[in-house]
Amino acid sequence: MYAYDARCAPGVPDGPAARFPAPPGARIMLAVTAPVFVSVVPDTRGMLPQERYTYSVPDELTGSIRPGVRVQVPFGARSLPGLVVAVLDQSDHADARPISAVLDEEPLLSEAMVGLAEWIADRYCAPLPEVIKAMVPKGARSAGPATGRRRGPRTISAALTAARAEGTALQPPVLTEAQRQAAAPLLEAIAAGRHRAVLLLGVTGSGKTEIYLAAIDAALALGRQAICLVPEIALTPQMIRRFAARFPGRLAVSHSGLTDAERAVEWRRARLGEIDVVVGSRSAVFAPLPRLGVVVVDEEDASAYKQDRVPRYHAVDVALELGRRAGVPVVLGSATPRVETYYRAHTGGLELTTLPERITGRALPPIEVVDLREELRAGNRSPLSLSLARALEASRTDGGQSILYLNRRGTATVVLCRGCGEPLGCPNCSVALVYHAGRGRCDCHYCGSSRSLPDRCPGCGSTAIRALGMGTERLEAEVAERFPGLRLLRMDRDTVQRRDAYFEIYERFRAGEADCLIGTQMVAKGWDLGRVRLVGIVNADTSLHFPDYRSGEVTFSLITQVAGRAGRGDEPARVILQTYSPDHYAVRHAVTHDYRGFAHDEIRVRRTHRFPPYTRLVTCTISHAEDGAAEAAAQQSVDRLSAILGAGAGLDVLGPTPAFLQRLRGQYRWQFTVRGEEIERAFPHLPRGRGWSIDVDPVM
Ligand code: ADP
Ligand code: ZN
Ligand code: ZN
Repeated sequence: MYAYDARCAPGVPDGPAARFPAPPGARIMLAVTAPVFVSVVPDTRGMLPQERYTYSVPDELTGSIRPGVRVQVPFGARSLPGLVVAVLDQSDHADARPISAVLDEEPLLSEAMVGLAEWIADRYCAPLPEVIKAMVPKGARSAGPATGRRRGPRTISAALTAARAEGTALQPPVLTEAQRQAAAPLLEAIAAGRHRAVLLLGVTGSGKTEIYLAAIDAALALGRQAICLVPEIALTPQMIRRFAARFPGRLAVSHSGLTDAERAVEWRRARLGEIDVVVGSRSAVFAPLPRLGVVVVDEEDASAYKQDRVPRYHAVDVALELGRRAGVPVVLGSATPRVETYYRAHTGGLELTTLPERITGRALPPIEVVDLREELRAGNRSPLSLSLARALEASRTDGGQSILYLNRRGTATVVLCRGCGEPLGCPNCSVALVYHAGRGRCDCHYCGSSRSLPDRCPGCGSTAIRALGMGTERLEAEVAERFPGLRLLRMDRDTVQRRDAYFEIYERFRAGEADCLIGTQMVAKGWDLGRVRLVGIVNADTSLHFPDYRSGEVTFSLITQVAGRAGRGDEPARVILQTYSPDHYAVRHAVTHDYRGFAHDEIRVRRTHRFPPYTRLVTCTISHAEDGAAEAAAQQSVDRLSAILGAGAGLDVLGPTPAFLQRLRGQYRWQFTVRGEEIERAFPHLPRGRGWSIDVDPVM
């Protein structure tokens, strides 16, 4: 808990105090005589040579010094604000200069949060000043005392407006027996005020969200507060509405649309204990709630939980660490958790609780598989198979809605043999090679093996070797041409560039203004629309052959999620899945809705190829204006690291290889990866400085 807040940190430690024996009854006066130093992280835009600097504390200021308060310090000829991260009884720097002022009465960050910041810096090899910047919004760090306040924040969309609606709370439904059992460990820990980490594995529509709500209710009833993380606020309008209806006037929604000033206001309100429930994307894990009672993470497998810039933290791991430090329970929910998470639920650290059935008792929709190789042999070159086209026609005549899902993301081109359905793969890594058109070569993203584009498939000899290329826009055009009069909507990064566009398209589809929605993974998650009676997965393989060891997991998850959009109403629904790889274990298990079967196979693959959860990875990337210079720098680092770490250290240095996006904003990028059980041992030797970036536990 942040209950430590009120307690004074040990400003005067035992050591020096002993040298000044206190007169009887005067236990407190020691503070006046013992020297006090502080470790301060200056708050500047630029990089300083060090992360922390030691200052002495003048006697008259020792009373208000504790970790988490801001101070003003002399720095060279300048004066800078900074954050106290530790109070010390001695200093190696005899010449430590005194701080000039203490800026806060109450610490900006609780001691627990300061500890969390240090943990993040260590775990992700990130500079502590950057971690603090990520934790505390700019306005809250730099502006006056923590009590200063401005007007409430603007809202960005109807969903978020709803989140601030005042009103009477919606009555919760009576939990089913299955829900009660699944919720029990969590509710027990909330009541006892102790840490517990629970994985809630529940199929789509099994009532997980209702369990989150019940847990938050329980925490609030005890006068405590809650954080609920969701992958992306803009993609979660329905969930926000549900939360707003249940906790009217008590909810703050933290999202990327807020300005710095708005973010600062919300942060301070939270710090002052004025907000009970924070729902937000990954950075909401830093909401400084003084009476935290529970942390909820929805869809724990979402890649959006990994921050893609410094500090590159994973919000799920941070949430678990926060729960440990604050002594509160954390629940991770998903229909398709990462296998690392599932593995932890079997090897310790996480408790597993399950909801194996949909709340209505209705079965999950059956998934029909269409083998695209056969379709091709039959001469059909359209992106829609015969059965999908027929089903689309049928759903139109019976008045239902349909979703056509095609996940074409990134710019990687996978080389696929249309004769046998196999992608061109790496012989060492069981991942697909990436075709770099510029160099005309196919590279393994992990180990660096490389080959030219073959004329014939190495497996079956077919010359029908193609780069995968169909996208949603082309699909929309084709469907419009074949089904004149079918009312279409499209949702992808191109059509939702405007702030509220996602919400508008969603609302129009919900209101029945379109018969068919074509979309990327944006349409895959969370939606609970009763009229969707057909889901067509146009090509399940786009993610399957992604050059990432997680491609099987991502594919399983996307199929499961998008199929889960069907059959939520009273009418029966169909899911049609098109694939060149019907026998791939990720596809097979998704088709039978078998998470455990999938996880079992996936974990075996990970063990064979030494990928997480059996190892951890850290990837170092160098950017340079010249390709050759980037490659040389990467090679030099690999050679140096290999020499330092040596064989038998249990750490592999893989690469260097061109980065997935080899050229980004005019810079060439090369990378290498260190893999092993104790990657921390490599941390001190990783290349830092100009052009380098370090990504611990990378997620693509
Ligand atoms: P999930 O988060 O697992 O997808 P939800 O919590 O959204 O599942 O539940 C699916 C549907 O069932 C929602 O429409 C929800 O309102 C409803 N629901 C959940 N729990 C109950 C319950 N105990 N009684 C009645 N309806 C429920
Ligand atoms: Zn082939
Ligand atoms: Zn490889």
